[in-house]
Amino acid sequence: MDQIASLIRDIPDFPKPGIIFKDITPLLADAAAMASVTQALAEPYRNAGITRIAGIESRGFIFGSLLAAELGCGFVPLRKPGKLPWRCRRRDYTLEYGTASLEIHEDAVGPADRVVIVDDLLATGGTMAAAATLVAEGGAQVLGLSCVIELTFLDGLRLLQHPFHALLRYP
Ligand code: AMP
Repeated sequence: MDQIASLIRDIPDFPKPGIIFKDITPLLADAAAMASVTQALAEPYRNAGITRIAGIESRGFIFGSLLAAELGCGFVPLRKPGKLPWRCRRRDYTLEYGTASLEIHEDAVGPADRVVIVDDLLATGGTMAAAATLVAEGGAQVLGLSCVIELTFLDGLRLLQHPFHALLRYP
């Protein structure tokens, strides 16, 4: 994991003052490191009968798609409002400053689905909690929530009600 951590770059004051943005683009550019990340994300869920990976827009799409291919299951996008073309269910949630929303196609998951939700990073937890609610409201079983990075000082875990895995924890 040290090798993976060395490929994540801190960008101070992006996108606004006071935020240290975790830039994963050097990690994305390294094929061997991305293969290791995919293996590590898959580890808890091999032989768990996962039917769908739900990825959170946009960086969750990258890791989620790789994980879906690795586990041999389908992928479901959770998107910002107005992006999905079919009928949607929507969840509004609170961010550190302001609000945001996520949508899912209403037929994307159902009672037969066993789902893991993926994003690049857990901060305050609002995004992941909204994603879990959307998937659970579809009748699916949420087996777990996975991120590459957890910012532990923001205590996002307090909003989560399913098993959570992160590959790297900061600080
Ligand atoms: P939150 O809902 O506060 O847990 O925020 C998580 C979402 O915001 C994820 O989709 C992240 O990609 C993004 N995010 C929040 N904080 C950061 C950060 N410091 N660096 C990179 N992405 C972040």
